[in-house]
This record gives sequence, C-alpha cells and structure tokens, in this order.
Amino acid sequence: MRRVSILGATGSIGQNTIDLIARDRDAFDVVALTGGGNIAQLAEDARRLAAQVAVTAYEDRLDDLRDALAGSGVEAAAGARALVEAASRPVDWVMSAIIGAAGLAPGLAALQQGATLALANKESMVAAGPLVIETARKHGATVLPVDSEHSAVFQALIGEDIAAVERIIITASGGAFRDWPLEKLAGATVAEASAHPNWDMGQRITIDSASMFNKALEVIETREFFQVRPEQIEVLVHPESLVHALVGFNDGGLMAHVGPADMRHAIGFALNWPVRKPVPVERLDLAALGALSFRAPDAARYPALRLARAVMQTGGLAGAAFNAAKERALDHFIAGRLGFMEMAPVVEEVLARLSAQPGHVDAPVYLDNITRVDHLARKEADAVAEQIAG
Ligand code: NDP
Repeated sequence: MRRVSILGATGSIGQNTIDLIARDRDAFDVVALTGGGNIAQLAEDARRLAAQVAVTAYEDRLDDLRDALAGSGVEAAAGARALVEAASRPVDWVMSAIIGAAGLAPGLAALQQGATLALANKESMVAAGPLVIETARKHGATVLPVDSEHSAVFQALIGEDIAAVERIIITASGGAFRDWPLEKLAGATVAEASAHPNWDMGQRITIDSASMFNKALEVIETREFFQVRPEQIEVLVHPESLVHALVGFNDGGLMAHVGPADMRHAIGFALNWPVRKPVPVERLDLAALGALSFRAPDAARYPALRLARAVMQTGGLAGAAFNAAKERALDHFIAGRLGFMEMAPVVEEVLARLSAQPGHVDAPVYLDNITRVDHLARKEADAVAEQIAG
C-alpha cells in the first residue's frame, strides 16, 4: 500500500488526484489532505478517504474545519506551520498542488522526509529550482513532474541520455485569446480570460494560460527540471493541446508525447510511477481528429515569453521575483485594477527595479532569501500597478 498526502487537495489538481485514488482505494493509505477556504470539500474528502489529518491554510477557519470533521476521527489543524507539519508526516508520495509560492515550504518539507514529490506547483521550481533539486538530492527524495508538458518530456526521456538532447519543445494552446485581434486584448475581461479553449483548470492558471505567463513559468520549470540550457527550450503553439511536448535528439529524431487534454493522465503517471496503471482518460481517435496544427508564438501577443528568457538569463532569484510579481499582477487584473495587457509591464518593471539593486535577485537561492525577494517583488508590483492604474 502506498502512503500518500495531497497538498492543495481541494483544488483542480487535488480533486483529480483524489478521483484517481478513490478509484483504486486499496492501493493507497491517505495520511494528510490540505486545503484553503473550501472547508466543506476538505472535510468531505478527509472523511471519505479516512485521512489522518486535514489542514486548512487559514487559522481563522480551524473551528469550521473542526465542526465539519466532528465524530470522524480525522485530526484538524490550520495555518502555515500546520501545512508544513502535515507535509512532514512520513509517507511514500506527496502531491504538491497548492497554488502559488505558498506551495514551496510544504513541498520542501515533503522532500526533507525523503518522499517522492509529484510537483504540480510549478512556482516552486520557478522560484527555487536549485533549492528543490538540492533538497531532494540531500534527502534521497524524488521529484516527478505533474505539469502535462513536463510529464511528457519526462516520459519521452525514459531510457534516453540527457546528453543526447538537443532541444525540448513544450506546446501551448495559445489560451483564450489566441485568435483575438491584438488590439482587442487590452480590453479583455476577467471572465473572457477565464475560459480555456481545451483544459478545465483553476481560474488563476487559466488566466495565466491566456497571457502565457503560465507557459513562461513552464519554460523556466523546464530548465530547472531537466537542467538544459535556456536556448534549448522552445515553445510551440498547438491549438488542439494533444501533443504536450517533444524532445529533439542529436540524431535529428523527435519524440513527441501525445495524450488527451486531461490532467489525470500526468497525475496518474506520477501516482503510479515507476509502473503504469490504467487511467480512465479518453483514448484518442487520431483518424477522427484528422490533423494537428502547430505555429510559432506571437511575441507581441505573449510578452511573458520574452520575460521568461530574461529571467533565465539573470538566474539566481529572478525566478522568485518574476513569480511573485506575476501573482500580484494577476491579483490586480482579477480585482479590475489592471488591464490584461498591463500585467506584463508590471512584472517587467519589478524585475528591472530588483535587478538594479544588489543583494536581491543575485542573492543565494536559500529559503529566507526567496521569502524576502518574494515579499519585496509583491510590494514593488503593488506600487507599479498603482502607478499604472492611477
Ligand atoms: P486551484 O486554485 O484549483 O487549487 C489550489 C489549491 O491550493 C486549493 O486546494 C486551495 O485551497 C489551495 N490554496 C490556495 N491558496 C492557498 C494558500 N495560501 N496556502 C495553502 N493552500 C492554498 O489550483 P490548481 O489545482 O489549478 O493548480 C495547483 C497547482 O498546480 C498550481 O501550481 C498550478 O500552476 C499547477 N498546475 C495546475 C494544472 C491544472 O490543470 N489545474 C495543470 C498543471 C499545473 P481552497 O480551494 O480550499 O481555497
């Protein structure tokens, strides 16, 4: 039996993970489930899966969680420390599916206990890639990618020599606005940006897909995961979202990973790794599909991709600053204070400000420095957003 914990259990990735575990109940012993504000879902799943402990990120929701778990025998806990404590409970496998920089500390705690970490929380790799890799190495832990593109690359690399890899191509649907006239983008609304053409995901990542900030994070994640040079990573717009990534080798061959646009494939792969087990996703009928299409991303439409290149060039804590500034810019867009095309200039300005002052993005990639740069980047992003909005 595999002992598992799910961080971010109430979210889109968390719920898909629970769906797979519930279908193969005898194979898994659930230790910890964590969530945020969705107490009803957290308590329902903790009861159903007979978890040891359920944790909400919010201390002021502890009483609600206790009430919802009354008589179940499941422990209730709350707050950032409790999240880390839950992630430290001995298990074989942990799903890291908290959204945003909040996922980093619990993910590191899971690695410190030597568990296999299925990493959906790409922000951890972007903000702290070297720290994540070094923590895993030091504690004999394994990090498996869950992002569909990175899972695809991982699968294409099985049995291959990374030294023979020339390039890694990750695909992008192009998001909600891929076919909009460029001049209309400035007026795009939150509701319009929240409708993904192919994937059913949480709201924040869906908006990040429309702006390609999500792809920008994934480009940086690719570099950190597979330790390739930035110039080896390419992005290709693929509206059908069925080819998730391609790996190009030094003999000219390309290995493509093709699968349905359903995160349960990548989650199931990580959940059962190193074996493959049946996963209830659609089986593609390529003859019925007929054709797949590809095109280069439009630099004017997706400035986030250029910023990702700059972040990789700078290195150090530029990823932490980039992610934090992006999270705040997105908050301001969702709150109606910034326009859709104003998010990238905010992030760019924050990167420029922090890079101009020594001791920030050039500081060593340690947790306290990451936290400091993260806070600073958020503060700067608020200030820049206010200037733009005002
Ligand atoms: P959701 O917004 O759907 O879920 C996020 C989860 O994190 C929820 O359980 C939420 O709790 C919890 N949470 C929110 N804020 C905090 C906080 N401050 N501290 C602790 N927990 C918190 O996100 P997704 O499932 O879409 O994404 C999760 C991660 O996976 C992200 O890093 C995303 O980039 C990545 N990812 C997602 C994909 C997808 O298809 N959705 C695809 C590939 C990667 P609650 O809801 O109870 O408030």
